[in-house]
Formats: sequence, structure tokens, C-alpha cells
Amino acid sequence: MFKRVSTKIRDALITVAWPQTCHLCGQMVESFADGAVCAECWTDPAITTIFFDKTVCSKCGLPLDRTSVRQSCGRCDGFSFHRARSCGLYGGALKASVLFLKSHPHLCPRLKGIISETFSINRAELSCDVVIPVPLHPVRERERGFNQSGLIAKVIASKFAIRLDLHSLSRIKHTERHRAGMDQIDRAKSVERAFTVGRPWLIEKASVLLVDDVFTTGSTVSAASETLIEAGAARVAVLTITRAFGH
Ligand SMILES: [Zn+2]
Ligand SMILES: [Zn+2]
Repeated sequence: MFKRVSTKIRDALITVAWPQTCHLCGQMVESFADGAVCAECWTDPAITTIFFDKTVCSKCGLPLDRTSVRQSCGRCDGFSFHRARSCGLYGGALKASVLFLKSHPHLCPRLKGIISETFSINRAELSCDVVIPVPLHPVRERERGFNQSGLIAKVIASKFAIRLDLHSLSRIKHTERHRAGMDQIDRAKSVERAFTVGRPWLIEKASVLLVDDVFTTGSTVSAASETLIEAGAARVAVLTITRAFGH
């Protein structure tokens, strides 16, 4: 009872102190739990249920045609990770939240819940001993003030009591931002040899869960996975909040 009242008071105070309009529809966001998007926009099932209800590629998690008898999309064989899963498509409330996360170091409770649920549903595919976020280059991290992938990794590590490693993997190449027009080859080139492992003994023979905000072509997570495997990791699975449809 007290909890419910205090949540109401907190939400009322936040609405007064920090009036926030929904980044999708412009209505007021009434609950702190919903972050950048209003409760109504969070109910759009098109974004997340596609991953929970549909058949996906067993390796990269790409939704497959329901009538497909294949288990694989046939396009992810070259990726170095062994499994990838996402909370949902890059659109709607998830897209708005991921964009908001780039400038605000805060994951709203609603999104934390979706991340945890996605990990639980895919627990077998994503089983791991250590959670590692895709790092930013130190220059980019200084500019931004935080690494958004680190915040996502912390949610999984603390909720499921898995070791969190924020330091072993680092980014040594300051690549330009991926632009919409870049194809898979351009993106793969830009992240080639972009990562290094500073403390390989911490990941030796480990099953790693690599965490990022967005899976676009898969080049970034694949390059980071390759570096981890070369440094001694047994295997790497990937979890992202969103993914683009197709790669
Ligand atoms: Zn809205
Ligand atoms: Zn695939």
C-alpha cells in the first residue's frame, strides 16, 4: 500500500518537476516508469511480440517467415557470435527509448522489464558466465559522459546475478558514426580491428553475453565477438534492445 502511494507521489512530483511529452505521440508521459514514451505507445504489440511469437533464425534471431521450414536466415553464417537475440524491432517505443538513452543515462523501469523478460525467454540461447557491454571509444565516451550499453549490461548482471565486466573489452579505433547509407561491407570495414581485450585471463574459456543497444547489420557485435574469441572466450552470445529488420 505504502509502495503504491509512494509511487503515485513520485510520479506526480516527476510530472511537476520534469514535464515530459511522449517522444512518439506528444501526449504527457504520466509515469516515471515509462521513460520517454507514454503508456499508450508502449502497448503497440508490433514492436516486441514479433520476437516472442514468431519463428526466428536460430543463430542471429532474425524473424523468419512463419511458413518457413528453415531454422536459419542463411545470411548470418559469417558472424562470429553463436547466438543473437533482441527485445524487438527498431521502431516505435523501443526506437524512441534507444535514441533517448543516447543522451540520458537512464533506463526506465518499463524498458528494464522488457530487457529482463527477453533474457529470461532466451535464457538457454544466451546462457553466460559474464556480461560485457560493447564499449565506446574513450573519446566518444567522454563526449557522451557514459556508455549506454553499459547501463543495459548492468540490468542483466544485477537482475540475474551474473558477473559484469566493464573493462576487459575496449575500443581502440575511433570510427565515424555509422550512417544510414552505409552498407554491410562499409560497416564491417569501419569496425575491423576496432576492439581489443586488455585482461584476457578474465574471459578465458568464458561464455560471454555481449550487450548493445542496437543490432543493425551485425558488424559491430560480430567484430567485438571475434576479438573476444581470439582472446580466449569459449563463445559469445549477443543481446540488443532493438534490431533492424534484415541485415
Ligand atoms: Zn505516446
Ligand atoms: Zn540468421
